[in-house]
Amino acid sequence: MRRPPPRPTPRARRTMRELPGAWLQKACRLLVLVCALHLSAVLFYYLAGSAPGPRWSPEPAPRGPAAPSPRTAPPPPPNASQPCPEPSPRLVGPLRVEFSLTVNLKKVEEENPDVREGGRHTPKDCKALQKVAIIIPFRNRDEHLKYWLYYLHPILQRQQLDYGVYVINQGGEETFNRAKLLNIGFVEALKEYDYDCFVFSDVDLIPMDDRNTYKCYDQPRHLSVSMDKFGFRLPYNQYFGGVSALSKEQFQKINGFPNNYWGWGGEDDDIYNRLVFKGMGISRPDAAIGKCRMIRHSRDNKNEPNPQRFNKIAHTKETMNSDGLNTLSYTVVNTERFPLYTKITVAVGSPKS
Ligand code: BGC
Repeated sequence: MRRPPPRPTPRARRTMRELPGAWLQKACRLLVLVCALHLSAVLFYYLAGSAPGPRWSPEPAPRGPAAPSPRTAPPPPPNASQPCPEPSPRLVGPLRVEFSLTVNLKKVEEENPDVREGGRHTPKDCKALQKVAIIIPFRNRDEHLKYWLYYLHPILQRQQLDYGVYVINQGGEETFNRAKLLNIGFVEALKEYDYDCFVFSDVDLIPMDDRNTYKCYDQPRHLSVSMDKFGFRLPYNQYFGGVSALSKEQFQKINGFPNNYWGWGGEDDDIYNRLVFKGMGISRPDAAIGKCRMIRHSRDNKNEPNPQRFNKIAHTKETMNSDGLNTLSYTVVNTERFPLYTKITVAVGSPKS
């Protein structure tokens, strides 16, 4: 027969009754201790200015290749050999353009630190798709030029173009000759850099959308398709005035622009005819993207409407091979490199010469 287990003594019975409470108390104390330790650790790292984990050493970084760290590595260096994406990811779309503000060119310079002397810019983080010379025919329009520089430099940089700005200033008092100044701009810009695209822009025209990229296309491009002056539409289908872009090849194919349009009007129609006679079509942005504003102004002296223009336009086919790049003659009076543009003053002769 098995003997029954001995009965616990009264002390042992008391201890057994108290046992669960005592263990609970000990566990709670341990928990509080762990929490306090954790809290002090967090406080320590917080005060030390960093979260737990790898910390930057205040020592100067050792020379030589840095050890890669997946969490703290800086962004990869810009890759100037990669072609810039198309369209540029930096574009913002519609822009507010107004001419009531006063433009301070020193400030424009400061706001565009990546524009080099002479008005040159090359994107830093990718290879521009085109090298663009912007040619502006000019005389006595310094106020308008300020607005142009103020608005266009930021736009052209966002368009990630490798560009230069050339203001071709007609010296002397003779009648203005826009198309001849544009021919001169083409020749002079090419002496400075291997441009492959030429944007010809009036000084008083500002695009209202940076998606209207100042570059060249398969066909000659008309950029100022929807001007406020014309109620934001083309005045007529063949209109090619204001701002246009031709590649080097397209420009050479038409023998450049005419040199014999003195005074206002007709030269842009002649250029349009040249393009058509050489079998090219016109490429254009849509009307919303091609919106632009013109600075209102009174007619310039010595730029009266040219009465001969209608007769001339009627004969482009016969004249274009003997009037253009191959007969261009002029003298450079001086070249000035300003921080935001290159100004080339030229003597273009007179209607009789
Ligand atoms: C002239 C062009 C001018 C257009 C719009 C035409 O009659 O020949 O030179 O751009 O009008 O003003």
